[in-house]
Amino acid sequence: MAEHYDAVILGSGQAAGPLATALTGAGWKVALIEQEHVGGTCINEGCTPTKTMVASGRVAYLARRAADYGVRTGDISIDMTKIRQRKRDIVDSFRGGSERRIKEGQVDLINGRASFTGPDSVEVRTNSGETRQLTARKIFINAGARPSTPQAPGLENLTAFNSTSIMELDVVPGHLLILGGGYIGLEFGQLFRRLGSRVTIVQRGKQLLPKEDPDIAEEITGILKEDGLEILLETSAVAARSTGGGIGLTVRGPAGEQELTGSHLLEAAGRVPNSDTLNLAAAGIKTDSHGFIKVNDRLETNVPGVYALGDIKGGPAFTHISYDDFRIVRENLLQEGKQLSTAGRILPYTVFIDPQLGRVGLSETEARAQDRDIAVYKMPMSYVARALELDESRGLMKAVVDAGSGQILGGAILGIEGGEMMAVLQMAMLGKLPYTVLKEAVFAHPTLAEAFNNLFSQTPS
Ligand SMILES: Cc1cc2nc3c(=O)[nH]c(=O)nc-3n(C[C@H](O)[C@H](O)[C@H](O)COP(=O)(O)OP(=O)(O)OC[C@H]3O[C@@H](n4cnc5c(N)ncnc54)[C@H](O)[C@@H]3O)c2cc1C
Repeated sequence: MAEHYDAVILGSGQAAGPLATALTGAGWKVALIEQEHVGGTCINEGCTPTKTMVASGRVAYLARRAADYGVRTGDISIDMTKIRQRKRDIVDSFRGGSERRIKEGQVDLINGRASFTGPDSVEVRTNSGETRQLTARKIFINAGARPSTPQAPGLENLTAFNSTSIMELDVVPGHLLILGGGYIGLEFGQLFRRLGSRVTIVQRGKQLLPKEDPDIAEEITGILKEDGLEILLETSAVAARSTGGGIGLTVRGPAGEQELTGSHLLEAAGRVPNSDTLNLAAAGIKTDSHGFIKVNDRLETNVPGVYALGDIKGGPAFTHISYDDFRIVRENLLQEGKQLSTAGRILPYTVFIDPQLGRVGLSETEARAQDRDIAVYKMPMSYVARALELDESRGLMKAVVDAGSGQILGGAILGIEGGEMMAVLQMAMLGKLPYTVLKEAVFAHPTLAEAFNNLFSQTPS
């Protein structure tokens, strides 16, 4: 016999928990099905553990630089098991909080793997070995994505790490080879370099972080090289093998083929949607050619009553986007007459290398591709008094402004606390303020934010 719910949520990503409790709060009967652990990627394998470990890397970096500030320390050594334990403790506490909120919210949390059996029905194979049939008025898919596996002859026979398993290491790799120069590869690359590894990043594309403006990517490449990372651009792995306890990688780049030997290999070559686990065909739900579920700007799939939220629908894959997807769905379902949509949503994000890259809105490349009449303001972080006082003045600030209206279209802050600095630009964008407001605003001295006075006083290009 099928159990009937008002709503069933597949996967406990960043939208699922808050959506489940909002719906039960409105009197709905809700089941949330999670195959692994509550809180999804962000809490368990993504944002939370990585940023916790990156914090350890930054302490190691500052400790090594202590003498620059006139502080004497002894030898710096790394306790990887302590770093891992700190990470595990913070993940456990965040996950516990999410689980508690879901249970207190009267949601039926079912531990198991869900798949569709029809447009309004799912089957759950529970982790305790039962099979349950559920039907629902509304079904929400928040089942996320997982690391993809790069292809090269021999790679499949190696013990390689992905973004999840690398965080369980209890040793510092002697030489970490990384396939992929996206944000995951860079965050781990700099982290392990700071913990003492030799690190080589192999990036197929012309630049690191392919979606960023070339000047930003170039600046980041320079910073990471200065930190001692080796970076091979326009280079692909063509073969792999194990070499008596290590990894041998043949790579092909502009200078031809070369052999790399490392102690560990991290595959950081993107993520694939978990849609293949859901038997979408049984419900007739459409995906694109990469398996991302197609939705309209209210997050509705082609099947009435079925929604997709977060990474599984493609587009920007961030926690705050998944959470905003929840807000859109909640308002449209629970508030009479609401028609919220994803259209025109301003996208902020931060790459947690050090210095951070805070990004919001359009890049210069995107604005030029749209043929917009723009003015680009740019300034090195070495012009910022606060950054100099902190002796952390690497990076640059950049803002893209509509030449006609003076409104800020986007920006990139590659600098200390770049993510927080970016939010200042974002606030101006949300308020539709012209750049001149930031140019003339009175900011406290000496803060990083006062740098916007100076940025917008530069001659634009
Ligand atoms: C290393 C790393 C670092 C990251 N850092 C950041 C960051 O700093 N900032 C940021 O904004 N984002 C970051 N992200 C991305 C962020 O984690 C995701 O965008 C975010 O978790 C949103 O995902 P989601 O809500 O779509 O689902 P997810 O969080 O991926 O959760 C999906 C859940 O569905 C479950 N599931 C899948 N299939 C089924 C099924 N058939 N049945 C039942 N359950 C199922 C999974 O087990 C999982 O728990 C990072 C990701 C990674 C990998």
